[in-house]
Amino acid sequence: MSEQFSVSRELFDDVMVPNYAPSAVIPVRGQGSRVWDQQDNEYVDFAGGIAVNCLGHCHPALVGAIQEQSEKIWHLSNVMTNEPALRLAKKLVDSTFAEKVYFANSGAESNEAALKLARRWAIDVHGSDKTQIIAFNQGFHGRTFFTVTVGGQAAYSDGFGPKPGDIVHAEYNDLDSVKALISDKTCAIMIEPLQGEGGIVSPTDEFIKGVRELCDKHNALLIFDEVQTGAGRLGSLYAYMDLGVTPDILTTAKGLGGGFPIGAMLTTTDIAKHLKIGTHGSTYGGNPLACAVSEAVIDVINTPEVLNGVKAKAKIFVDGLQAINTKYNVFKEIRGKGLLIGAVLNDEYQGKAKEFLVAAMAEGVMTLVAGASIVRFAPSLIIPDEDIVEGLARFEKAIAKITS
Ligand SMILES: *Cc1c(COP(=O)(O)O)cnc(C)c1O
Repeated sequence: MSEQFSVSRELFDDVMVPNYAPSAVIPVRGQGSRVWDQQDNEYVDFAGGIAVNCLGHCHPALVGAIQEQSEKIWHLSNVMTNEPALRLAKKLVDSTFAEKVYFANSGAESNEAALKLARRWAIDVHGSDKTQIIAFNQGFHGRTFFTVTVGGQAAYSDGFGPKPGDIVHAEYNDLDSVKALISDKTCAIMIEPLQGEGGIVSPTDEFIKGVRELCDKHNALLIFDEVQTGAGRLGSLYAYMDLGVTPDILTTAKGLGGGFPIGAMLTTTDIAKHLKIGTHGSTYGGNPLACAVSEAVIDVINTPEVLNGVKAKAKIFVDGLQAINTKYNVFKEIRGKGLLIGAVLNDEYQGKAKEFLVAAMAEGVMTLVAGASIVRFAPSLIIPDEDIVEGLARFEKAIAKITS
């Protein structure tokens, strides 16, 4: 082991591209919903690596899967297929609307594949002028140039030169704003079935069903970006299952790997056939290590125990936050679904979500933000109830300091 220099937060500024502003804390190990830093300070993890560590840290089934696969075969390329990829694909097909799977390494790549497939499908089936993509203001779909342009914050896609074209944005939960844009030239609508980064915004029943109907009316594909909402996060394997709306293409990543990088695009045979041999690909997509871990994730989460557990734990969480709010009156709303929870700061604390996050960290609990005024929680789906209680007690201490 090379120990000739110390690894500290300062080193980040020396050697890393400055596109992130990481915390001063450097975690070095985790177990379940607890994490320890370099100084051995312990934290309750309500962040889950931004809705990724759906089974906490070092879950035995995941550790077992990666150990076992790591002694068999690590990588093959797509010139050959592999057993873990086919097993995972079969399980995803068996448990969703989908008939075909494409593997990628991240959410953005899965969405990139979905958008490229939608364009291919529309041009093949309906002609070269059916290329319009409708997405939503405040939506988030990743950071490749196509996906970030489809995303609903121009600030993230500005400044990089000419953008991919024929992409327009409607207002989430405003069906009329979609009606105003959609036509027979619309190729697809890309939407999160609950906006995550954009502020933990649930769709109304009328809106999400209306979007499906508009797609059907204009022969446009409906793409659900379930990168954040999927893999059990909202209490069903995928959010669409609880909405009564089935998309044509679904993307999943984050929790799908439980901490190992993987993403997937799911669709029907009829649509999938337009990504013919050679039209798209990825070196690492379908990597055996990633797929072995992900298969273990699906095996654990796609059970009534875990999925019903999400709903029960969400209630403990929301009740706890409400009890804190009764004492300190800092939130105007606590919203979200399952274990994707947003506490919206009231007018007095607008723009100060990061201060809450920093204060919480100092008390030993990791949280997230969603925009400047919402504290976000995305803990492990199997976080022990005691850890919820302990983490919220620490969060309350942070709030007591901020409000004193
Ligand atoms: C995080 C996220 C992405 C991007 O995923 P990456 O793995 O960072 O590329 C895309 N869509 C949604 C809804 C997300 O929350």
